[in-house]
Amino acid sequence: MHTDTYRHKGMRKVLVKLLREKGIKDERVLQAIATVPRHFFFEKMFLEHAYQDKAFPIGEGQTISQPYTVAYQTELLELQPTDKVLEIGTGSGYQCCILLEITPQVYTIEYNEVLFRKALHYFRLHHLNPHTYCGDGSEGLPEEAPFDKILVTAGAPVIPKSLIGQLKVGGALVIPVGDEQSQKMVRVVRETEDEFTREVFADFKFVPLLGKSGWNK
Ligand code: SAM
Repeated sequence: MHTDTYRHKGMRKVLVKLLREKGIKDERVLQAIATVPRHFFFEKMFLEHAYQDKAFPIGEGQTISQPYTVAYQTELLELQPTDKVLEIGTGSGYQCCILLEITPQVYTIEYNEVLFRKALHYFRLHHLNPHTYCGDGSEGLPEEAPFDKILVTAGAPVIPKSLIGQLKVGGALVIPVGDEQSQKMVRVVRETEDEFTREVFADFKFVPLLGKSGWNK
C-alpha cells in the first residue's frame, strides 16, 4: 500500500497552485485536489507522473483524467455538500474520490469490469462508500434517479436524452460531446420540468463513451 508523505502533500500544493493559475476558482474543488492522494492510483514505478497535470494510462485502454480536466468538470457541476451526484465512467476512482470530498452521496458506474473491480478494491481498502455499479452508464442509472448533478467522464457523440431526464429541476449535467478526436464540454441545466438550458465551454479530448447511447462499440 502507498503512503502519503509531506513530499506528496507538497506536490499537491504545487498542483493546486497550477490549477489556480489555469483558472480554477472553486475552493471546494481545489481543497479536494489538495486532499486526495492522486499517487495512490498509480503503480509504484510511475509515481513521479502522479502530480503532473496530465492524463495517464490505467490499463484496459483507459486513462485517469488530467487533474485540470477533473477540476474543470467538477467546478462546472457547482457541486454542493447536499447534492446527490452520478458519475459515469468510474475509471481509476480518482474523480469519484474528489466528488466524495464535497458530498457523501456519490453514485458511480463503470462499463469495464476489470477497472470496476480495481476501483471497488480501492474504495474498500480506503473505507470509502460511494454507490458503485458495473454496466453501461450511457443511459444513466434510472433506478436511482433523480440526481442533482450528473458528470460524464468519457466523450459522447450526443447528449443522451435519458441523462437529462434523470436530473432534478435545478440540476445539471456536465458532459464532453463531439467526435472521437475532440469534444466540447457542455453543461445542461434543467430549469423547469420541461425546460433546459445548454452552455458550451472549452475543447477537450476524452476516451469514448461506449454503450447504447455512446459510440456503441
Ligand atoms: N473518472 C475516471 C477517473 O477518475 O479515473 C476517468 C475516466 S476515463 C477518462 C473514462 C471511463 O469511462 C473509462 O474507465 C471507461 O471504461 C468508462 N466508460 C466508457 N463508456 C462507459 C459507459 N457507457 N458506462 C460507464 N463507463 C463507461
